[in-house]
Amino acid sequence: MIFLKTEDEIELMRAANQLVAKTLAEVGKHIKPGVTTKELDRVAEEFIRDNGAVPTFKDFPNPCGGTPFPASICTSVNDVVVHGVPNDTPLANGDIVSVDCGALLNDFNGDSCYTFRVGEVTEEVAQLLDVTKKALYEGIASAQQGKRIGDIGSAVQTLCESHGYGVVREFVGHGIGRKMHEDPQVPNYGRKGNGPMIKSGLCIAIEPMITMGSPKIYMTEDNWTIKTRDGKPSAHFEHTIAVHKGKIEILSSFEDIEKAN
Ligand code: MG
Ligand code: MG
Repeated sequence: MIFLKTEDEIELMRAANQLVAKTLAEVGKHIKPGVTTKELDRVAEEFIRDNGAVPTFKDFPNPCGGTPFPASICTSVNDVVVHGVPNDTPLANGDIVSVDCGALLNDFNGDSCYTFRVGEVTEEVAQLLDVTKKALYEGIASAQQGKRIGDIGSAVQTLCESHGYGVVREFVGHGIGRKMHEDPQVPNYGRKGNGPMIKSGLCIAIEPMITMGSPKIYMTEDNWTIKTRDGKPSAHFEHTIAVHKGKIEILSSFEDIEKAN
């Protein structure tokens, strides 16, 4: 069941997503060789709570029956696709780390992810990040009122596969509102004209998870961390958007992140 949002609800969604954007920018300021992802998690949790919100990911139930998620952000380094658990391993020059963040503010959820470079990355990796981010924006541009969810996935898939990249199938974007994960699912692949119709009031998180090589993945024994099977790097960018007033509004933002970097 898709919950279309009122203007008042979209206002609250905007506030939650702006807080997530500011949290990611705050985390981004600390990303450099030598910092651990656990330290980044501390920065995020403190920032979210200081702003009167709750980190949604903390203690999130494990869909595979394992332990709940122990941290406030997912930190996915290099060949980790998503759901990386913050740990004590220092980041190294040339790494990439995707930081996925969710916050609940006044009963509504924000959700956004940015893949950061640690120091200098190779040309090849830089291109993976650029294309994945571009795919996110092409997906967003395809989410016009009256189109269908498949138009979004088709746009993301077409661009990424034209670069020889893999589109992860097992994880998808989603509706978002009072719950972090609502209907509909928003795959990063699909066919134009397929899937649920995009109506005014729809709020969704679009989040391409794109691999440099094969899209095949596996879960490690912690029951959270998802890695590429071929060990090649993977990128992940996510915005939460609202379709309303005949427009597409991006509720989250990368502006502060990119100003600081
Ligand atoms: Mg997310
Ligand atoms: Mg999401």
